[in-house]
Amino acid sequence: MDPEIRKDQLKEMFLPLVDALGYKLSLDEELVEFLFDQEVQIEKEKGSPFCPCQALTDEREHDMKLVCPCIPFHREHYDAMRRCWCGLYVHKDVDDPDSLPQISLKEFEASKK
Ligand code: SF4
Repeated sequence: MDPEIRKDQLKEMFLPLVDALGYKLSLDEELVEFLFDQEVQIEKEKGSPFCPCQALTDEREHDMKLVCPCIPFHREHYDAMRRCWCGLYVHKDVDDPDSLPQISLKEFEASKK
């Protein structure tokens, strides 16, 4: 399939899901296009649009939690950053996605103690 068509299909599928979770696409259009290009490529190679920014382990239970949009599996962490790990999606009220820090899971877990 034409990668551009697949990219549009993925957006159409994912946007209602992230909208229901309180997220929207980043305003950084270049980043959005880049990440969707990556997801189309990953889906072609691995069968699912896994996260372009997080390492797979080949352990199914782990990896299936990294199929985009992976927000439901990492909700607390991403909500604290107001963005998903890649920054493809941000909270709906975010106007300046570049201002949002990426907080490692380790730092996030430590901040809760
Ligand atoms: S971190 Fe963002 S881009 Fe990566 S899989 Fe999760 S929702 Fe998709």
